[in-house]
Amino acid sequence: MIEIVNLHKRYGQFEVLKGINLTIERGNTVVVIGPSGSGKTTFLRCLNLLEIPTEGTITLGNQQLTFGDGKRIAEDKQIAFRQQTGMVFQSYNLFPHMTALENVMEGQVTVLKRPKETARKKAFDLLEKVGLKDWAGMYPHQLSGGQQQRVGIARAMAMDPAVLLFDEPTSALDPELVGDVLRVMKDLAREGMTMVVVTHEMNFARHVADQVIFIDQGVIAEQGPPEQIFEHTKNERTLQFLNKLTGESL
Ligand code: ADP
Repeated sequence: MIEIVNLHKRYGQFEVLKGINLTIERGNTVVVIGPSGSGKTTFLRCLNLLEIPTEGTITLGNQQLTFGDGKRIAEDKQIAFRQQTGMVFQSYNLFPHMTALENVMEGQVTVLKRPKETARKKAFDLLEKVGLKDWAGMYPHQLSGGQQQRVGIARAMAMDPAVLLFDEPTSALDPELVGDVLRVMKDLAREGMTMVVVTHEMNFARHVADQVIFIDQGVIAEQGPPEQIFEHTKNERTLQFLNKLTGESL
C-alpha cells in the first residue's frame, strides 16, 4: 500500500501541488487524468523523487519519507525509495549506446548488484513478456517508438519495484503503435502489478483503472472508480474536462 498525505510541491512562489492525499492499494491501477498544467507529471515525479516534494509524507511499505522544514532526505534513503518506484517515461529515455537487453540489465547490475548472468536471464524473460524476445540485440534507434517504450517497461520491471509509474507512456507514439504498449500495461494490471498511470487514453482509464484521479490546479478535484468519473460525475470541473475531451475528438 502507498499512502500519500498532504503532498505539496512549490517552485519558488508557484505552488504546483497543493496538498494531495491518496491511498493506493496493492495491486491496483490508478489512472491520473486532468488538464494540461494541472500537476499530473509533477505528482508522478514526486512519487519517484525525481522532484523532491516541498511538504508532506509518502509511505511505501515500510519506508516512510517526510518532507518539509528544509529537511534533506539522505541519499541512501532516496536511492532505496527510487528502486521501489519504477518510472516509465513519455520519451522512453533508453541508453542509446546499449542494446535492448543491455538496457534492461543495466540497473540490475549497477544498482542491485545482481550477477550478470542472473540479470541477463531476467532481462530476456522480461523482453519476452513485452513481446520483444527477438529484438533483444537491437539498439534503440533500430526499434520503433512502441518497441522502445516496451523496453522501457521491461527495464522498469527489472528492478522489481513495488509500484510502476507511467508518465504519458503513449503520447509520443504514432497511433498505430499505441495499442501494443497499452496491451502490455493491461496485462501487467491484470497480473496484479500496482501502477499509477498519467494518460490521456480514456479507454484505458475506463477499462483498466481501479481508481481514476482527476487532478485540477494542483488538487484532487475528484476520485473514484471509472464508472463514477466517466458516467455519473456531478463534479463541474470533471464534467468540463471530459466534455472538452469529447469535443476535441469529434
Ligand atoms: P501536467 O503534467 O498536468 O501537464 P505538470 O506537472 O507538468 O502538469 O506542470 C504543472 C505546472 O508546474 C505547470 O504550470 C508547469 O509549468 C509547472 N512546472 C513544472 N515543472 C516545473 C519546474 N521545474 N519549474 C517551474 N515550474 C514547473
